[in-house]
Amino acid sequence: MTKTSTKRKLQSSADEKRLTSSVVELNLSTSRSLFKSLDLNGDGFIIKSDLINSLEQRGILPDDIRISETIKKLSPLSDADKIDQHLFHEVISQNLTLIERSLKGDLIIPDFITFSDIVTDIYEAVRPNQGGAVADYIPQLARVNPENYAISICTVDGQRLSLGNHDVSYCVQSTCKPINYCIAMEKNGEKKVHQHVGREPSGRGFNELTLNKDGLPHNPMINAGAIMSCALIHPELDVSERFDKVMSFWQAMSGDVRPGFNNAVYLSERQTADRNYALGYFMREKNAFPENTDLHEILEFYFQCCSIELTAGAHANVAATLANGGICPATGSRVMSAETAKCCLSLMYSCGMYDFSGEFAFSVGLPAKSGVSGSLILVIPGVCGITIWSPRLDEYGNSVRAVDISQRLVDRLNFHIYDSLITDSNKHDPLLQKNEEKLKGVMVANYAASQGDLNEIKNLDARGLDIDVADYDGRTPLHVAAAEGHINIIEFFIETKRNLSPRDRWGATPLEDAKQGKHTSIVELLQSHTNH
Ligand code: GLU
Repeated sequence: MTKTSTKRKLQSSADEKRLTSSVVELNLSTSRSLFKSLDLNGDGFIIKSDLINSLEQRGILPDDIRISETIKKLSPLSDADKIDQHLFHEVISQNLTLIERSLKGDLIIPDFITFSDIVTDIYEAVRPNQGGAVADYIPQLARVNPENYAISICTVDGQRLSLGNHDVSYCVQSTCKPINYCIAMEKNGEKKVHQHVGREPSGRGFNELTLNKDGLPHNPMINAGAIMSCALIHPELDVSERFDKVMSFWQAMSGDVRPGFNNAVYLSERQTADRNYALGYFMREKNAFPENTDLHEILEFYFQCCSIELTAGAHANVAATLANGGICPATGSRVMSAETAKCCLSLMYSCGMYDFSGEFAFSVGLPAKSGVSGSLILVIPGVCGITIWSPRLDEYGNSVRAVDISQRLVDRLNFHIYDSLITDSNKHDPLLQKNEEKLKGVMVANYAASQGDLNEIKNLDARGLDIDVADYDGRTPLHVAAAEGHINIIEFFIETKRNLSPRDRWGATPLEDAKQGKHTSIVELLQSHTNH
């Protein structure tokens, strides 16, 4: 080894050591400030429930594999055991990043408590809705308790909320259609897939005996299209391996939860499948399938996919993987390309709700897919996946309660795809920090007043923002404009007949601010419109 290379090696190992020690220092200071935020009475100790409860309030639950090391280290402790700063650092160090982001309100839904309260409210309000009837075309579905009712949410940051029967398994039925489409896309690419299946809403029943003008199924979200997706999934493999691939895909999307399989449902589906067979033969007659497709094998494969079982909790992870552009939030693994997720969501948006798809896209404005078991997956792209399960169906085959919940969710939260266009909406924005909505408005209004920017003040007023609103110190745009000498703003407040004498936290009115700033014309104007 030459002298120079030895020197370089020593130098780089010194750099590495310096880097490691500064990372250690940074981690220590992070855990110190997190500890302080939990040690509310400042006595230098916390107990384990302080940490666990704080994480739960932010949607990070104790069974989250991303904090498993922390939970393991906490498990021998009881709530009588005190945790000091040193032990705290040791406990959280392996999961520091996620814990830091959670406790600092840095996850996609920062105020998870308010969000959970709104969802719980809606869930309870919809519970009395007993409209519709359970699917009865096979006995296994007819026997399901119609009172089952669950909602599960998983955000793209893995924050979770589950209510009701979220740990009871049900078969996925038509919610397997988007997943099979994704697998087919990953394997073959868009061009090849759409040589065999269209992407237009059919405007016809989900199992109607109809194909598009090219003799292909209208889209992958109806039966004919879903059978076609099955024909495009690993045709080179034998039936058992092919089904294994599908199960592994579901497992990867659901955060490493192995799905179940309901053999009785599968056998019944197979026995009552005349329509699906008819669709298959119709497509075969039109040469719609890829070469060498074994129709019977493919139909059975399709019935098997419909008979996969999952809980609403795991199903929400599946929806969240789509919301997260193909990366499972629970494991951080990429399950499909972002492009595949995008194509799938586009089709769910236009075709996912049987004959109600257009109405759902209009009024709810979100990609969704429902199945006759009464489950519905709803995706808020970039935010979260939601699964609702309630077996009673409406005339279109959609769960009555799931549609009801979806509509109420977008009434209260700004989740409709085009809600961003409505600036004066009073819907809650879950992506903002607590009070951020209000504070942002106050800051913008006060800044506009400080610049004498009358147009901006008028715009804010037109958008429905309360321009009399005061900041933390009780300072209103009128105070600020008076102090800075912007008479145009004062005139606007007079013309629009607002309170001209608000007091800030020190008791000062805008008139007093104008006097102090020696803005004589404002002083006179305000005096002539107030009693001072
Ligand atoms: N197994 C059902 C069928 O193909 C799926 C029904 C559905 O959920 O839409 O008839």
